[in-house]
Amino acid sequence: MTFDTIIVGGSFAGLSAALYLARARRSVLVLDTGAPRNRFAAASHGFFAQDGSDPKAMLEIMRAQVAAYPTVQFRDLKALNATRKEDRFRVTLENGGAVTGAKLLLAFGVSDILPDLPGLAERWGRTVIHCPYCHGYEFNDERFGVLNLSPMSAHQATLIPEWGPTTFFLNGGTIEPDVAAKLDERGVTIEPEPVDCLVGEGTSLSAIRLRNGVEQPIDALFVGPRNRFNSDIAERLGCAVEEGPLGSVVTVDEMKATNVAGVYAAGDITRMGHTITFACADGVMAALAIHRSLVFGG
Ligand SMILES: Cc1cc2nc3c(=O)[nH]c(=O)nc-3n(C[C@H](O)[C@H](O)[C@H](O)COP(=O)(O)OP(=O)(O)OC[C@H]3O[C@@H](n4cnc5c(N)ncnc54)[C@H](O)[C@@H]3O)c2cc1C
Repeated sequence: MTFDTIIVGGSFAGLSAALYLARARRSVLVLDTGAPRNRFAAASHGFFAQDGSDPKAMLEIMRAQVAAYPTVQFRDLKALNATRKEDRFRVTLENGGAVTGAKLLLAFGVSDILPDLPGLAERWGRTVIHCPYCHGYEFNDERFGVLNLSPMSAHQATLIPEWGPTTFFLNGGTIEPDVAAKLDERGVTIEPEPVDCLVGEGTSLSAIRLRNGVEQPIDALFVGPRNRFNSDIAERLGCAVEEGPLGSVVTVDEMKATNVAGVYAAGDITRMGHTITFACADGVMAALAIHRSLVFGG
């Protein structure tokens, strides 16, 4: 069977697209490896009707609602590669099989490359966070740290005082005098000493231990890690990719079409600002574009 659309990645972007295509009575195959980017967080915030919900439970509801449509199929398998064969796409799977679709939607998301600091990885999504709009409110007026990882970190540190008192851990790095002046203006404390490890019970955080042995009390640490695509399928297909400040981004037009005819992309892989709301909106936009293309050609 040739599906109208194969979707690589069945999370917020992919499932949103699948829902719209299913409601247009089109056949859809969703391929998914079950590792959405926010799986480390206990609660998701900022998405209407689900503010504070368990992200896993949100996706279970989404998937169940999509699965209720008879034209949708799911395979919990990794897509390895995709090639065009005449006017069809052939997607190879990790089990050795292959599937065929008229259109392809890439929604495989990104992974965060966390700094190698003792105590950090196990607190990711709990007390080590990256998006203040997603998780800042839960620490209202508590003590924040921002870890210097890239030039973007100083920008992040300038913003965080909106949520509470902030220390910028330079971690042995340097900043330009105008950046230091801006941080000072915002009331940010600058700590130049290199950082040794994170301290606290379980996934909670009580301090950052500096290399000189001093423990600086904090309740939450912001980091802005680089990220990477979860799959190289976009590049293998010849999709144009741009370098953003924290990782690669698939180039798409306003309808989420890539430069490769018949290939669309949605969600975190196509933008710099990453939220569930954006990912779902991207999926809907891609689905509308795909449907129009199936009906009118092009
Ligand atoms: C710790 C953390 C907390 C967050 N909290 C929030 C929050 O509170 N609110 C908010 O709005 N946003 C939050 N986000 C951002 C949010 O997680 C992302 O914006 C959103 O998940 C992007 O959706 P997506 O569908 O593009 O990608 P993802 O959700 O990452 O989904 C990609 C899917 O593709 C699958 N996949 C990957 N490769 C393949 C392959 N080759 N074949 C088949 N399947 C594949 C993966 O398993 C996954 O299911 C958070 C992010 C992080 C890291």
